Amino acid sequence: MDLYEETKLIMKQNNIFANKKLGQNFLIDENIVSEIVNSSEITENDLIIEIGPGLGTLTSKLVEKAGKVICIELDQRMINILKNRFKLYNNIEIINEDVLKVNLQELIEKNKKNSNIQKVKIVANLPYYITTPIIMKLLEEKLSIESITVMVQKEVAIRLADKPGGKESGSITYTIWYYTEPEIILNVPSKSFIPEPEVQSAVIKFNVLKQPRIKVENEELFFKIIKSAFMQKRKTLVNALLNSNFFEKREEAEKCLESIGIDKKIRGEKLTLEQYNEITKILDKNLY
Ligand code: SAM
Repeated sequence: MDLYEETKLIMKQNNIFANKKLGQNFLIDENIVSEIVNSSEITENDLIIEIGPGLGTLTSKLVEKAGKVICIELDQRMINILKNRFKLYNNIEIINEDVLKVNLQELIEKNKKNSNIQKVKIVANLPYYITTPIIMKLLEEKLSIESITVMVQKEVAIRLADKPGGKESGSITYTIWYYTEPEIILNVPSKSFIPEPEVQSAVIKFNVLKQPRIKVENEELFFKIIKSAFMQKRKTLVNALLNSNFFEKREEAEKCLESIGIDKKIRGEKLTLEQYNEITKILDKNLY
Protein backbone atom coordinates (compact mmCIF):
# COMPACT_ATOMS: atom_id res chain seq x y z
CA MET A 1 0.00 0.00 0.00
CA ASP A 2 1.46 3.39 -0.90
CA LEU A 3 1.19 6.51 1.25
CA TYR A 4 -1.80 7.83 -0.69
CA GLU A 5 -3.78 4.62 -0.12
CA GLU A 6 -2.67 4.40 3.51
CA THR A 7 -3.73 8.00 4.19
CA LYS A 8 -7.10 7.48 2.49
CA LEU A 9 -7.63 4.32 4.54
CA ILE A 10 -6.80 5.98 7.88
CA MET A 11 -9.15 8.84 7.01
CA LYS A 12 -11.94 6.45 6.02
CA GLN A 13 -11.54 4.19 9.07
CA ASN A 14 -11.71 7.20 11.36
CA ASN A 15 -14.30 9.10 9.38
CA ILE A 16 -11.96 12.06 8.93
CA PHE A 17 -12.57 14.97 6.58
CA ALA A 18 -9.74 17.48 6.43
CA ASN A 19 -10.55 20.66 8.34
CA LYS A 20 -9.48 23.58 6.13
CA LYS A 21 -9.65 26.03 9.03
CA LEU A 22 -6.93 24.04 10.80
CA GLY A 23 -4.71 24.02 7.69
CA GLN A 24 -5.08 20.27 7.27
CA ASN A 25 -3.28 19.11 4.12
CA PHE A 26 -1.90 15.64 4.67
CA LEU A 27 1.34 14.53 3.01
CA ILE A 28 0.99 11.59 0.63
CA ASP A 29 4.38 11.68 -1.10
CA GLU A 30 6.88 9.20 0.32
CA ASN A 31 9.87 11.03 -1.24
CA ILE A 32 8.94 14.34 0.34
CA VAL A 33 8.50 12.69 3.75
CA SER A 34 11.99 11.14 3.38
CA GLU A 35 13.51 14.47 2.31
CA ILE A 36 12.09 16.22 5.39
CA VAL A 37 13.34 13.48 7.71
CA ASN A 38 16.78 13.27 6.06
CA SER A 39 17.36 17.00 6.02
CA SER A 40 16.51 17.12 9.74
CA GLU A 41 19.57 14.87 10.37
CA ILE A 42 17.93 13.01 13.24
CA THR A 43 19.90 10.81 15.64
CA GLU A 44 18.91 8.65 18.60
CA ASN A 45 20.09 11.42 20.94
CA ASP A 46 17.63 13.91 19.53
CA LEU A 47 14.34 15.12 20.90
CA ILE A 48 12.06 15.99 18.01
CA ILE A 49 9.15 18.32 18.56
CA GLU A 50 6.62 17.81 15.78
CA ILE A 51 4.04 20.55 15.34
CA GLY A 52 0.74 19.40 13.83
CA PRO A 53 1.38 15.65 13.35
CA GLY A 54 -2.12 15.15 11.90
CA LEU A 55 -2.62 11.48 11.00
CA GLY A 56 0.99 10.66 11.91
CA THR A 57 2.61 10.34 8.47
CA LEU A 58 5.86 12.14 9.35
CA THR A 59 5.62 10.93 12.94
CA SER A 60 5.92 7.29 11.86
CA LYS A 61 9.40 8.00 10.44
CA LEU A 62 10.44 10.28 13.30
CA VAL A 63 9.74 7.70 16.03
CA GLU A 64 12.04 5.22 14.25
CA LYS A 65 15.01 7.60 14.24
CA ALA A 66 14.75 9.92 17.24
CA GLY A 67 15.38 9.34 20.93
CA LYS A 68 12.02 10.88 21.64
CA VAL A 69 9.23 12.57 19.69
CA ILE A 70 6.83 15.08 21.21
CA CYS A 71 3.77 15.75 19.04
CA ILE A 72 1.70 18.86 19.58
CA GLU A 73 -1.68 18.69 17.83
CA LEU A 74 -4.77 20.86 18.28
CA ASP A 75 -7.37 18.54 16.69
CA GLN A 76 -8.73 16.01 19.21
CA ARG A 77 -9.69 13.62 16.37
CA MET A 78 -6.01 13.36 15.38
CA ILE A 79 -5.01 12.72 19.00
CA ASN A 80 -7.17 9.60 19.10
CA ILE A 81 -5.66 8.32 15.85
CA LEU A 82 -2.08 9.05 16.98
CA LYS A 83 -2.55 7.39 20.38
CA ASN A 84 -3.85 4.27 18.72
CA ARG A 85 -1.30 4.25 15.90
CA PHE A 86 1.76 4.65 18.15
CA LYS A 87 0.58 2.73 21.22
CA LEU A 88 3.50 0.28 20.95
CA TYR A 89 6.13 3.03 21.03
CA ASN A 90 7.55 4.25 24.33
CA ASN A 91 9.47 7.20 22.84
CA ILE A 92 6.47 9.36 21.94
CA GLU A 93 4.48 11.94 23.89
CA ILE A 94 1.29 13.36 22.39
CA ILE A 95 0.03 16.74 23.55
CA ASN A 96 -3.44 17.99 22.64
CA GLU A 97 -2.90 21.75 22.64
CA ASP A 98 -2.53 24.84 20.49
CA VAL A 99 1.23 25.01 19.86
CA LEU A 100 1.15 28.78 20.36
CA LYS A 101 0.07 28.20 23.98
CA VAL A 102 2.63 25.54 24.89
CA ASN A 103 5.57 26.45 27.12
CA LEU A 104 8.17 24.87 24.85
CA GLN A 105 11.26 25.79 26.87
CA GLU A 106 9.79 24.14 29.98
CA LEU A 107 9.00 21.04 27.92
CA ILE A 108 12.54 20.94 26.51
CA GLU A 109 14.21 21.36 29.90
CA LYS A 110 12.05 18.67 31.50
CA ASN A 111 12.91 16.20 28.75
CA LYS A 112 16.62 17.01 28.74
CA LYS A 113 16.79 16.41 32.49
CA ASN A 114 15.05 13.05 32.37
CA SER A 115 16.90 11.39 29.49
CA ASN A 116 20.05 11.26 27.42
CA ILE A 117 18.70 13.81 24.95
CA GLN A 118 21.47 16.02 23.59
CA LYS A 119 19.86 18.05 20.84
CA VAL A 120 16.37 19.34 20.18
CA LYS A 121 15.01 19.79 16.66
CA ILE A 122 11.67 21.03 15.37
CA VAL A 123 10.11 19.22 12.42
CA ALA A 124 6.72 19.99 10.90
CA ASN A 125 4.42 20.23 7.96
CA LEU A 126 3.03 23.47 9.37
CA PRO A 127 -0.59 24.64 9.37
CA TYR A 128 -0.08 27.55 6.93
CA TYR A 129 -2.59 29.89 8.57
CA ILE A 130 -0.23 30.38 11.54
CA THR A 131 3.21 29.97 9.92
CA THR A 132 4.51 33.40 10.99
CA PRO A 133 3.38 33.28 14.66
CA ILE A 134 4.81 29.78 15.02
CA ILE A 135 8.21 30.71 13.58
CA MET A 136 8.34 33.93 15.59
CA LYS A 137 7.51 31.98 18.76
CA LEU A 138 10.23 29.39 18.07
CA LEU A 139 12.83 32.15 17.58
CA GLU A 140 11.77 34.84 20.04
CA GLU A 141 11.50 32.43 22.96
CA LYS A 142 15.21 31.68 22.45
CA LEU A 143 14.61 27.95 22.78
CA SER A 144 17.59 25.65 23.15
CA ILE A 145 17.09 24.12 19.74
CA GLU A 146 19.45 23.05 16.99
CA SER A 147 17.27 23.44 13.92
CA ILE A 148 13.76 23.97 12.57
CA THR A 149 12.79 22.04 9.42
CA VAL A 150 9.33 22.94 8.21
CA MET A 151 6.99 22.80 5.23
CA VAL A 152 5.54 26.22 4.46
CA GLN A 153 3.88 27.99 1.55
CA LYS A 154 6.49 28.46 -1.21
CA GLU A 155 6.12 32.26 -1.39
CA VAL A 156 6.60 32.44 2.36
CA ALA A 157 9.71 30.23 2.15
CA ILE A 158 11.26 32.64 -0.36
CA ARG A 159 10.65 35.58 2.00
CA LEU A 160 11.91 33.65 5.03
CA ALA A 161 15.12 32.61 3.24
CA ASP A 162 15.90 36.06 1.84
CA LYS A 163 18.65 38.20 3.34
CA PRO A 164 17.90 41.52 5.05
CA GLY A 165 17.84 44.14 2.33
CA GLY A 166 16.86 41.53 -0.30
CA LYS A 167 13.83 42.28 -2.45
CA GLU A 168 11.66 39.63 -0.76
CA SER A 169 12.63 40.57 2.79
CA GLY A 170 10.10 41.50 5.48
CA SER A 171 10.53 42.28 9.16
CA ILE A 172 10.51 38.54 9.95
CA THR A 173 13.56 38.15 7.64
CA TYR A 174 15.58 40.23 10.13
CA THR A 175 14.50 38.06 13.06
CA ILE A 176 15.39 34.91 11.12
CA TRP A 177 18.73 36.27 9.96
CA TYR A 178 19.56 37.41 13.50
CA TYR A 179 18.99 33.98 15.03
CA THR A 180 19.53 31.48 12.19
CA GLU A 181 21.04 30.46 8.87
CA PRO A 182 18.07 29.63 6.62
CA GLU A 183 18.14 27.35 3.57
CA ILE A 184 15.40 26.18 1.22
CA ILE A 185 15.58 22.40 0.99
CA LEU A 186 13.11 21.69 -1.80
CA ASN A 187 9.97 22.81 -3.56
CA VAL A 188 6.87 20.67 -3.10
CA PRO A 189 3.99 20.52 -5.60
CA SER A 190 0.35 20.65 -4.44
CA LYS A 191 -0.23 17.08 -5.59
CA SER A 192 1.95 15.84 -2.71
CA PHE A 193 -0.96 16.46 -0.32
CA ILE A 194 -4.58 15.56 0.19
CA PRO A 195 -6.53 17.71 -0.08
CA GLU A 196 -4.33 19.67 -2.50
CA PRO A 197 -3.57 23.16 -1.14
CA GLU A 198 -4.25 26.10 -3.47
CA VAL A 199 -0.63 27.22 -3.16
CA GLN A 200 2.73 25.64 -3.89
CA SER A 201 4.87 24.62 -0.92
CA ALA A 202 8.52 24.35 0.07
CA VAL A 203 10.56 22.81 2.86
CA ILE A 204 12.83 25.27 4.62
CA LYS A 205 15.44 24.58 7.29
CA PHE A 206 16.67 27.10 9.84
CA ASN A 207 19.97 26.18 11.45
CA VAL A 208 19.87 28.01 14.76
CA LEU A 209 23.11 29.91 15.45
CA LYS A 210 24.93 29.33 18.77
CA GLN A 211 24.95 33.11 19.29
CA PRO A 212 22.84 35.70 17.46
CA ARG A 213 24.59 36.83 14.27
CA ILE A 214 25.46 40.27 15.69
CA LYS A 215 25.74 41.66 19.22
CA VAL A 216 22.75 43.84 20.07
CA GLU A 217 22.51 45.40 23.52
CA ASN A 218 18.89 46.49 23.47
CA GLU A 219 17.13 43.74 21.51
CA GLU A 220 13.66 44.98 22.39
CA LEU A 221 14.32 48.42 20.90
CA PHE A 222 16.18 46.88 17.93
CA PHE A 223 13.19 44.75 16.88
CA LYS A 224 10.71 47.54 17.64
CA ILE A 225 12.55 49.81 15.21
CA ILE A 226 12.63 47.12 12.51
CA LYS A 227 8.94 46.29 12.95
CA SER A 228 7.85 49.91 12.68
CA ALA A 229 10.02 50.43 9.59
CA PHE A 230 8.22 47.51 7.91
CA MET A 231 4.77 48.50 9.08
CA GLN A 232 5.22 51.63 7.00
CA LYS A 233 7.13 49.99 4.19
CA ARG A 234 6.27 52.54 1.50
CA LYS A 235 7.52 55.44 3.57
CA THR A 236 11.15 56.47 3.90
CA LEU A 237 12.84 55.21 7.05
CA VAL A 238 13.00 58.77 8.38
CA ASN A 239 9.21 59.16 8.04
CA ALA A 240 8.57 55.74 9.60
CA LEU A 241 10.83 56.59 12.57
CA LEU A 242 9.09 59.94 13.03
CA ASN A 243 5.59 58.42 12.79
CA SER A 244 6.51 55.85 15.44
CA ASN A 245 7.83 58.64 17.69
CA PHE A 246 11.39 57.35 17.85
CA PHE A 247 12.43 60.93 17.04
CA GLU A 248 10.54 64.15 17.67
CA LYS A 249 12.17 66.19 14.93
CA ARG A 250 12.98 65.33 11.32
CA GLU A 251 16.48 66.87 11.66
CA GLU A 252 17.28 64.47 14.51
CA ALA A 253 16.29 61.42 12.46
CA GLU A 254 18.22 62.65 9.41
CA LYS A 255 21.29 63.45 11.50
CA CYS A 256 21.14 59.96 13.01
CA LEU A 257 21.17 58.31 9.57
CA GLU A 258 23.86 60.64 8.25
CA SER A 259 26.11 59.89 11.22
CA ILE A 260 26.17 56.22 10.22
CA GLY A 261 26.55 56.91 6.52
CA ILE A 262 22.99 56.09 5.42
CA ASP A 263 21.14 58.13 2.78
CA LYS A 264 18.31 60.01 4.50
CA LYS A 265 15.88 59.01 1.69
CA ILE A 266 16.43 55.28 2.23
CA ARG A 267 13.50 52.91 2.89
CA GLY A 268 13.63 50.57 5.87
CA GLU A 269 13.71 47.43 3.74
CA LYS A 270 17.16 48.32 2.38
CA LEU A 271 19.01 48.29 5.69
CA THR A 272 21.26 45.54 7.03
CA LEU A 273 21.05 44.09 10.55
CA GLU A 274 24.21 46.04 11.44
CA GLN A 275 22.74 49.34 10.28
CA TYR A 276 19.59 48.80 12.39
CA ASN A 277 21.89 48.05 15.30
CA GLU A 278 23.69 51.39 14.78
CA ILE A 279 20.34 53.23 14.84
CA THR A 280 19.34 51.28 17.98
CA LYS A 281 22.56 52.30 19.77
CA ILE A 282 22.03 55.98 18.92
CA LEU A 283 18.41 55.93 20.10
CA ASP A 284 19.16 53.84 23.18
CA LYS A 285 21.86 56.22 24.37
CA ASN A 286 20.19 59.44 23.14
CA LEU A 287 23.20 60.22 20.98
CA TYR A 288 21.36 62.34 18.42
N1 SAM B 1 1.88 16.37 9.74
C1 SAM B 1 0.70 15.99 8.98
C2 SAM B 1 1.11 15.65 7.58
O1 SAM B 1 2.20 16.08 7.15
O2 SAM B 1 0.36 14.98 6.87
C3 SAM B 1 -0.36 17.09 9.01
C4 SAM B 1 0.09 18.46 8.58
S1 SAM B 1 -1.22 19.61 8.37
C5 SAM B 1 -0.52 20.68 7.15
C6 SAM B 1 -1.14 20.67 9.81
C7 SAM B 1 -1.56 20.05 11.13
O3 SAM B 1 -1.47 21.04 12.16
C8 SAM B 1 -2.98 19.52 11.18
O4 SAM B 1 -3.01 18.22 11.70
C9 SAM B 1 -3.72 20.49 12.13
O5 SAM B 1 -4.77 19.90 12.85
C10 SAM B 1 -2.59 20.92 13.03
N2 SAM B 1 -2.80 22.24 13.68
C11 SAM B 1 -3.50 23.29 13.21
N3 SAM B 1 -3.42 24.32 14.07
C12 SAM B 1 -2.67 23.91 15.12
C13 SAM B 1 -2.24 24.54 16.32
N4 SAM B 1 -2.57 25.79 16.63
N5 SAM B 1 -1.47 23.81 17.18
C14 SAM B 1 -1.11 22.53 16.88
N6 SAM B 1 -1.49 21.90 15.75
C15 SAM B 1 -2.26 22.57 14.88
